[in-house]
Amino acid sequence: MASFAGPEIERLIGLLAKLPGMGPRSARRAALALLKRREQLLEPLAASLRETADKVRACSRCGAPDTRDPCAICADPARDGSLLCVVEEAGALWAMERAGGFRGRYHVLGGLLSALDGVGPEALRVGELVERAAAPEVSEVILALPATVDGQTTAHYLADRLAGAQVTISSLARGVPVGGELDWLDDGTIVQALRARRPA
Ligand code: ZN
Repeated sequence: MASFAGPEIERLIGLLAKLPGMGPRSARRAALALLKRREQLLEPLAASLRETADKVRACSRCGAPDTRDPCAICADPARDGSLLCVVEEAGALWAMERAGGFRGRYHVLGGLLSALDGVGPEALRVGELVERAAAPEVSEVILALPATVDGQTTAHYLADRLAGAQVTISSLARGVPVGGELDWLDDGTIVQALRARRPA
């Protein structure tokens, strides 16, 4: 394909095209919008990306991205330390926080087990979860994982790994799309799925 823009712009388009929901065509449109709106978009976005890259890290306890370590939720003494909610990615955590029905703490796995993609337990924050679940204050681990094959495989695996810990293991109510889809579910549905959770 012939290139009309300089290598810097091609690089920008190539990177934008790697974002979820973007392809080469939408990446070119986004790049053009950025270049046309230098003051309002390009400069603030560049500064925000720099700041995010410099300051945001995964919380060493739960794995959620934050500028602080431990993150704001892990550091909040008002959160209920007896409840640990396991999510695939931070998007699900953000959705549950928006919904506002959960006052416990989280554990971000960083993905799901997948035979197809070759993702094993060592690639996820499983060891950290087992360690956290063994703390005396933790009484329940809620598996808020997607109702997909990988999500359920992961949930079963985690339930096995947590069998030795003195905790109740529960799952969000089935029949409700959860996990990867949590971040665009309406808030009421999430709260209901959480209330209707049951032993895994
Ligand atoms: Zn944290």
